Amino acid sequence: MGYPKIKPAFFSLNKLERIIRPLKDVLPVNLRTGVVYELSCMNCNATYVGQTSRQLKIRISEHKNHIRRNTDTHSVITEHRLALNHEFDWENVRILDNERFLAKRLISEMIYIKLQENGLNLQIDTETLHNVYISFLPKLPY
Ligand SMILES: [Zn+2]
Repeated sequence: MGYPKIKPAFFSLNKLERIIRPLKDVLPVNLRTGVVYELSCMNCNATYVGQTSRQLKIRISEHKNHIRRNTDTHSVITEHRLALNHEFDWENVRILDNERFLAKRLISEMIYIKLQENGLNLQIDTETLHNVYISFLPKLPY
């Protein structure tokens, strides 16, 4: 069995870009990097907003497995799960933003933390935003 005959194909960079772009957009949510994400409780309307530079699935599995690690590290998600016996929808994490630069991602994260109706994030997470950026934001629910 020989190799099938392949005609060499030459793409211009523009053409290549048009092919790669759509693929990047359909990258599975779990494999995305540099994202601001939202975790939702399946038993109530509580949500948690976070950001990561790594693949989303790695960060999510940290949130998920924290409950079994028996550490003293503070985790609002773990507290919510244990205190109310609620569970989060680990399979349906919402991507709120894609941003590869950390500084911009942190600002984006803080804005989305602020926009939550029943957010579990601690108030301290948004303090920087509150002091510096909040005056530029139109009609935020407090
Ligand atoms: Zn809940």
